[in-house]
Amino acid sequence: MIHVKKDCNNPPAELTDSKWSNIKLDVLTNSDHSAKSKCYRDTTLNELVKLYSNKCACCERSRGEELQIDHYRPKKARNNKDTTYNHLGYYWLTYEWSNLIPLCSSCNQAKSNYFPLKDNDKRITNHLHRYANQAIRLYIYENPLFINPEIDTKPERHFKYLPNGEVKGRTIEGKTMVKFYKLNSRTKKRERRGIIKEYILDIRKALYRYYNSNENNEYLRGSLDTIFEKIIENGKTDKPLSLMHDYIRRFFDKFIENQFKPNMQDRLITLFKDYQNKWSK
Ligand SMILES: [Zn+2]
Repeated sequence: MIHVKKDCNNPPAELTDSKWSNIKLDVLTNSDHSAKSKCYRDTTLNELVKLYSNKCACCERSRGEELQIDHYRPKKARNNKDTTYNHLGYYWLTYEWSNLIPLCSSCNQAKSNYFPLKDNDKRITNHLHRYANQAIRLYIYENPLFINPEIDTKPERHFKYLPNGEVKGRTIEGKTMVKFYKLNSRTKKRERRGIIKEYILDIRKALYRYYNSNENNEYLRGSLDTIFEKIIENGKTDKPLSLMHDYIRRFFDKFIENQFKPNMQDRLITLFKDYQNKWSK
């Protein structure tokens, strides 16, 4: 998860269209209001997809067509037999731009209408509360265990990535999200592991060519620089799984280097350091 800047005072025209006035009035007066997705379908989803560079707001996988509009605070109440996570619905935020984020179908399904808080007594239950319509104040007041990537300016501090493709929570919020959004589902983990493995495989090919065929050092440097460039380029915030790529760069020894024999490790780390020095200038 990475921070995304959204101008909450400037919602897509579709959301604020006056033809929905009655629907918006109904949501405040009828507790059984069922959301009309026609109010936030086409341009709203397009805006979100653009804002989030085509990625899921939570797992950061590129999902294009599959992205869905999710209500960060669930519009409907949760009424389960197991009451641990039950809550009333945030009905008044059904059509609020600040409450809409794009999720992949897997994260959306896993999240369902959970919305745990650090302290359940702090939950705001109706639209008349003084902070009900102030996204940032509401966030500070309620202290949700699900991070809002538009409000938390450093959501990355809640997570860390491991060389086996797993993601771990570093804070209570991060741990809660890993669990509820199923961030280590087999598919998600396999996808991340696959990317790491591919880098290792490409580097292995380049190193074997060098050691087995009298290739010169500059040629090896050229081949590896192309791979290093890819790792660093993919760490940019508009790229899928940018946070994991940032981990691969910062913990190159753990993710890549220690997959190789000691003599290869030395050469690899020297060339990686050279590349990073060049890149940081
Ligand atoms: Zn996702």
